[in-house]
Amino acid sequence: MILGLLGLRCIRWHEKKNRFVSPTNLDFYWENPVVWAKCSRGCHTIDGELIIRRDCSCGIYATLQKQEMFDYMGDSLAICLLVEALGSHNNSWAHETGFTAAGVQVIKLVDITKFTRSQIKNEGPEKMEFLVSWQQHVMQKALEVFKLKVTDIIPYNLALEMMKIQWQKVVMESWPLED
Ligand SMILES: [Zn+2]
Repeated sequence: MILGLLGLRCIRWHEKKNRFVSPTNLDFYWENPVVWAKCSRGCHTIDGELIIRRDCSCGIYATLQKQEMFDYMGDSLAICLLVEALGSHNNSWAHETGFTAAGVQVIKLVDITKFTRSQIKNEGPEKMEFLVSWQQHVMQKALEVFKLKVTDIIPYNLALEMMKIQWQKVVMESWPLED
């Protein structure tokens, strides 16, 4: 049962490290279905849970906006996860366009391959096909790493519906975006 907020999260496959990493921090690994924030800037821990400060950058961010997710994507080695916010009371919070949480649970893998072509510009058709097939290959890796089934690969529109329902349930306000 999903209890927390849902958001989109871009992660990258790092070929040399043989791991999924955060696009903005290549040393932050995504290796399990549940991922917790780590802090080297002084946030403390209570009962084993990192208490993320609002003025610190260690919390895990997920967005409600497809375009913001693509801004992190950069290239087709990136894929899109639907993640649920974890953490005790007050240790995750909603923004206008997403959330920050102490941890996240990977719920689904969002198939964004149909958008990839429009995001990667200035590539010829052959290179484009190569990139999209590589992205599909990386999605298969994600199924293994995050212990998902093939049926957990969902189209973006379904992810959007799930995010909207959960937003209204948890934040108790209407969906903050237009699309
Ligand atoms: Zn911190």
